[in-house]
Amino acid sequence: MKKGKKLIIANWKMNPGGADAARELFLATRRAAAGATRRVSVAVCPPAPFLTVLSRLANKTVIIGAQDSFWRNGGHYTGEIAPEMLKDAGAQFVLSGHSERRERGETDDMVSRKTQAVLREGMTAVVCVGEKVRDENGAFFSSLREQIKASFARVQRRFITDVIIAYEPLWAIGKNWREAARPEDVREAAIFIRKTLSDIFGDEGVLVPVLYGGSVGPENAEGLLRGGDIAGFLVGHESLDPEAFAFLIKLANEAKV
Ligand code: PEP
Repeated sequence: MKKGKKLIIANWKMNPGGADAARELFLATRRAAAGATRRVSVAVCPPAPFLTVLSRLANKTVIIGAQDSFWRNGGHYTGEIAPEMLKDAGAQFVLSGHSERRERGETDDMVSRKTQAVLREGMTAVVCVGEKVRDENGAFFSSLREQIKASFARVQRRFITDVIIAYEPLWAIGKNWREAARPEDVREAAIFIRKTLSDIFGDEGVLVPVLYGGSVGPENAEGLLRGGDIAGFLVGHESLDPEAFAFLIKLANEAKV
């Protein structure tokens, strides 16, 4: 996750169904990234059970991250996974507050605890934010601002340099590329997010990389890279298609943006 390079993160969500298929998909991703590392960093978030096996295949070309974390190390928390365990399994970063987790009851306060715990463990936190709906007169900006403020309430200022934001408007996730956000909308949101972070964390806040996620695919990636004022993508369903994902990596590597 080198500063100055575009970053493309694959979020495999709850796919694929087994470790063999996960190895195959990871190796295909690694091959796709092999010749394209000059201007792009590639990362994969597999389901937690595959972290250990895939981290043995990870290298400088493709790194591994986790999709979620608990905020404590050790204790009576059945089913949770501690930040130290994720790190030990090879995760270099963790998604925090993905909308699919927020929809299952994760609050801004939980996101804030998780983010702080991940950062304290020495990993990068990729904090997902985004509005549920977009109204014509821009009222969603204030809810986005409130979400950001609350999701960072427990995060210490000294950690802000290890934070990446994924701007993922809910209405654009898991759709057809035609329903994704437009480059100009993403640009406006990216500027707004950096401004909000600088209000909270000072000058360093403006430097936080902002990724876009929400139905990114071969058809809309170039426009978003050119016009979105973003540092890269968080890619869901298209990251399960090695050809489509390879195309996104190549595009980001070649894009003069
Ligand atoms: C996501 O869920 O993080 C995501 C970006 O999904 P998709 O690309 O499928 O919209």
